[in-house]
This record gives sequence, C-alpha cells and structure tokens, in this order.
Amino acid sequence: MTRYIFITGGVVSSLGKGLLSAALGALLQARGYQVRLRKLDPYLNVDPGTMSPYQHGEVYVTDDGAETDLDLGHYERFTGVPGRQSDNVTSGRVYSDILTKERRGDYLGATVQVIPHVTDAIKAFAIADTDDVDFVLCEIGGTVGDIESLPFMEAIRQLGNDLDPGQVIYIHVTLVPYIAAAGELKTKPTQHSVKELRGIGIQPDILVCRSEREIPNSERRKIALFCNVRESAVIQALDVSSIYEVPISYHREGLDTEVLKAFGMDHDNDVRLDRWEEIIRRIRHPEGEVNIAVVGKYTGLMDAYKSLNEALAHGGIANKVKVKVEWIESEIFEEEDCILKLEHVNGILVPGGFGKRGAEGKIAAARFARERGIPYFGICFGMQMAVVEATRNLAGIEKACSTEFGPCEDSVIGLLTEWKSAKGRETRSEEDDLGGTMRLGAYPAKLSANSQVAAIYGGTGISERHRHRYEVNVDYKDRLEQKGMIFSGMSPDGRLPEIVEIPDHPWFIGVQFHPELKSKPFEPHPLFASFIEAAVKQSRLV
Ligand code: GLN
Repeated sequence: MTRYIFITGGVVSSLGKGLLSAALGALLQARGYQVRLRKLDPYLNVDPGTMSPYQHGEVYVTDDGAETDLDLGHYERFTGVPGRQSDNVTSGRVYSDILTKERRGDYLGATVQVIPHVTDAIKAFAIADTDDVDFVLCEIGGTVGDIESLPFMEAIRQLGNDLDPGQVIYIHVTLVPYIAAAGELKTKPTQHSVKELRGIGIQPDILVCRSEREIPNSERRKIALFCNVRESAVIQALDVSSIYEVPISYHREGLDTEVLKAFGMDHDNDVRLDRWEEIIRRIRHPEGEVNIAVVGKYTGLMDAYKSLNEALAHGGIANKVKVKVEWIESEIFEEEDCILKLEHVNGILVPGGFGKRGAEGKIAAARFARERGIPYFGICFGMQMAVVEATRNLAGIEKACSTEFGPCEDSVIGLLTEWKSAKGRETRSEEDDLGGTMRLGAYPAKLSANSQVAAIYGGTGISERHRHRYEVNVDYKDRLEQKGMIFSGMSPDGRLPEIVEIPDHPWFIGVQFHPELKSKPFEPHPLFASFIEAAVKQSRLV
C-alpha cells in the first residue's frame, strides 16, 4: 500500500517546508522505504520556466525536461530519487488542462467548477504514478489561508476520505516566534494557523514548529492541547548551520518515528544515517579552504543559484575543504582594472544566464582565467561566453558573438532551429513563445577518449540536463581546436558541441549542460569534485 504524507505551511512562508519534505524523505529511506516527493504550487504560471529568478529562485530541470520549482532540487539532492514532470504541478497547469478539455467539449455540457473539477484534477495528480513506492511526500506551496491554495487544501482533505483509513497523514509546519521584549516564545500564531487548517477540514497529525529557541515542555503541551495533536507529535525545528544537518536533527526530534506512529506502523526498525553523519563530519571539520568567484547576474539572490551553490559545497565535501563562494556581478568587469578583483581567487565559475547585460563582463572573466591559468568552469552561458572569448582572442575572429544579443557577423553561438530528442525531431524559431521552447532535460553526449573530461567522468558516455536556446556553432570547431580549445564532448550525431576544454591550462572546462542539477552531497558531481580539486591545487601555488 502506498501511503501519502501531505505537508502544508502556516504563519509565514520560507519556513523550510521543502527541506523538511526532503529530509523526511531521506529519513524514511534510511529506514528502508521507497519514497517519491512532489510539489503542488498554487500560483497561476503554467510552470516556473518563465518566472524571474529574482522572484522565484532557480528553475530546476528534471531528466524528462520539466521546468520545476527549486524544491524539487532539494528532494533529489537529499534522496537521490530523480524528479519527473509529474512531480510538480501548478494551478496554471491544472486550469490550462481543464480549459482545454472544456473547449473540446469533454465535460458534455456540465458546469465546470472548482469543486469537483479542479479538485479532482489536483487529486489525480497527487496520486498518479505512485504504486511503486511506500511513501509519497506531497508538499503544498504557499501558506494556509492564501486564496490560491484553497482548492489544493480541499483536494488533500478529500483524499483523506477517498483513500483507506491510515493511508494519509498531514504535517503542518508553523513558526513559534521568540519575542525578545517579553523574553518568551509565542504559540498563538501556531494555534491560529491550525485553527485555519481545521476550518478547512484538515486536522494535522504532526506539527513541525520552527523556532529560534528550544521550545520548553510546557509550551509544547500547550500547543498540543490547543491544536488537538499528541504532545510527542509537536516536533521542534531549531535552526541548523548546514542544510545537510536537517535530516539528523529531525530524526533526533523524533519526526520519522511520529510519522510511522501516525500511520500505525512499526517504528523500531533500523535507521541508517551513517552517510549523513559522514557528510556533516566533513562539513564541520574541513582540512582546508578555497575561494571560488561565481561571476553571474543574479548574485544578490542566492536562491537563483541554489543547485550551483550546493554543487560547489559537494565539491568541497569530496575534497574535504570548505568552499568559500564570492558572488560577483559580472557587469563590474566591463570597467577596466576591476578584473584584478579576481586575482586572489582559486577558481572562477561563470554559471548559466540569459541576455546581453553583463555578458562582456563574463567574457572578460573567462579571458582572465584563461590567461592567468586560474581554474575556469563555464556552465551553459558560461561555456558560451568562454567560446566567444576564445574565438575572439585565440582564433583572432574579433567580431565573434552570440545571436542572443542581436544579429552578428561571426555567430559562434547561434539559435538552433532543429534537433533530435527522445521525443523525436524538435524545432523552434525566433518567434516562438518563451515558455517551454528550450532544449530541455537530459541529453546524451559522447566524450573524446583522451580528453580531460573523459578522465574526470571515468568514461565516454554521459547524460546531462539542458536548459538553453542557443548552441555553440560547430563550424568554428576546427579553427578553435587549432588554437588549443578542444571540443571534447559532442551530441551523439556530432552536431552539437557539449563540452570544450583547454588541455594546456590547469583546468578550463565549459559545458553546455547543467551538471549542478545532478550533484548530491553523498555523490558529488565529478566535474565539481574535479574543479574544486583544481582550485585546491591552485591555492597551494599562491
Ligand atoms: N542564454 C543561453 C541560451 O539560451 C544560455 C542559457 C543558460 O545558461 N541556461 O542558450
């Protein structure tokens, strides 16, 4: 029997529901269960693909090409279970499907309504394709009381009745704030939030209370009493210094035990947490430190580069060092001399990005890294800019540019209008919609046998996730290879450059895909592990 855990949030947003879901998934795995994690997002965008990273943080891409909420990244990093298209749905997607059916006449003249049509669609989504797992953890975005989230709350309430007794539980995450002036923790916001939830018909089985301070037993009892939950099911969630401490910290607070108890299941089984203990040990006791500059555009908002930040930390875990990341706006390098700010770093990473603003600064950073022998890692846009730089300054084609910035004479980066995917032939043009028209999801690549990347990956066949419209133009391959930039990874048909490297440089690799999306703390991505290793070597030189 598949069991469902619905996770809602109350009081304020940003309480770490996503991390709680991911950590609980990891704890259930540690007890030997199979899990799947999902997210239901109440906003009206069809997917987060067109939302600004400033507003919504990174867009996480799955193997099957879905552009999803960044929480799916946490789920995958913590559990290793690859996310799928069917693991993230928004109100926008639900309404868009329903309206398409309505226009087609599928409802046979019925009045189409939130209940039952929207709620039925949400329920179908929540339970679809889950027969193969023991637990489905389903997080509802937003906060209880939001107008938008009501149909989702109603749908999960109904599921509690539709499914068998003991097949569904509800976890509610709230805040227990500390009021310094009174010197007290306050339980009232939690009480109100649960009251709101019960008003919708959902009685939470477990309350997870985020708090800056220990919640004393007296307050726990009060919360239990007023919110109608067992005292042991009031779980406190104190801040921890690294997100990878979250699973063990929830385990200590008894979260996984309470979940199994709520389902009426045996909870004495073994919990194998050694891999999490090892990760924490490495994070707490690094043997060294490296400085990495990330030269990007959304550097003011860490969520915009969530997976990247984590993958760099994983590279540190692999090498037992702490990775200090300096986030630098690329635009500053468009002024002369500013580039010298990069002199002290042990590695430069130019991440994915879109649009012209700041591009020349990224090109300058790639040049600095190449000329000074500083390890350089170019990801997607960062690869494209490194190729533009090499075409201009190594191959001497001065006007080399990307057509992303407008028409150009020497378009070493250009729009690809036709390519093959698992779905068959795909096409796009300049005029296409912005949503869902990129090369998205996992694509295979072939690596040259003697290349540095083949050594790093330990093989010549790889599959990595993509999210981009433009491609390196293979017509420039020979000219660049003659000057020392090798196209060491190509699409299987040999048309799309996937990786470039400069063998004559301590570490200079550009990849057209996003390796950060597949990195995990217990399985650091080989490119990140190798990049940080190169940075460690570089740090010993300076
Ligand atoms: N803007 C570039 C493109 O669309 C790169 C995208 C990215 O870095 N994800 O091809």
